[in-house]
Amino acid sequence: MKKLVPSSLDPYQVFNDIASAKRLERGERLKRIAPEICNYYKNYYDSISDLSVMYPIGFTGLEKDDLEDCYLGKTNPLNRLLADIIKSQALPIRNQCQYCGMGSANTFDHYLPRSIFPEFAVFSLNLLPCCDTCNKHKSNVFINNLEGKTKRQIINLYYDNLLSERYLNVSILYKGDVPIAEYSLVQTSGISDSQFCLIKSHYSKLKLLERFRNRSPEVLSETQSSIKTHIKAKSIERVRQFLLEEAQRLRDRFSNNHWKVVLHEGMANSSKFIEDCCLTQ
Ligand SMILES: [Zn+2]
Repeated sequence: MKKLVPSSLDPYQVFNDIASAKRLERGERLKRIAPEICNYYKNYYDSISDLSVMYPIGFTGLEKDDLEDCYLGKTNPLNRLLADIIKSQALPIRNQCQYCGMGSANTFDHYLPRSIFPEFAVFSLNLLPCCDTCNKHKSNVFINNLEGKTKRQIINLYYDNLLSERYLNVSILYKGDVPIAEYSLVQTSGISDSQFCLIKSHYSKLKLLERFRNRSPEVLSETQSSIKTHIKAKSIERVRQFLLEEAQRLRDRFSNNHWKVVLHEGMANSSKFIEDCCLTQ
């Protein structure tokens, strides 16, 4: 999970350009509410450190349809905005969903859900590149009430402080001779209760632990093949060193809590996995 870089395009100009690209009455109606939308954008900026305080304006009927159509009806200014959001991201993560670190970033999530907050349908800071699966699981998830407090449920990749402390853990278990990676979340001393609450909710809503486990057999098997190909004189120490080097390479590229980093360290810590690799002919 890496932080995303906001688009540098002026969001007010983008809204006006999209409104101008709309036909007839819809275009006119959007231009009329443009100054109002600018104010809502300012509220979003002002609340960026904790968007749980945001309340929907409550647009209904034609106005809601108009605002949602700014995103759903394709126009050149919208295409330029979406392309700019992608282009603003660092190359190593440009095509990878940072909600999960697995899928391709081929859709956009509306952090404040579009159907509830249509006023932010084309606001760049509310649009996060992500994969189909994360987008589907997130759906309209935004906040919930815990012990009388309103809390966000999904990490904001533009503005949350993404932790380098390790909170994702894995155990390599064996069913017969087949290794299985079981992931879990662990709160360490450097992680506050509220940070951990958000992390737990994010991983739970997006079903990440289950999705990491389901993808792991492929990585475990590929890694065994790679060890077979690249390490001629296999020893426990040599195989462990190879796995830790691979974990470091992935950590440099992604982050300390990326599921593959954790998995490679898990393999390096599994005596049985390493012994099996050494036995592989
Ligand atoms: Zn994803």
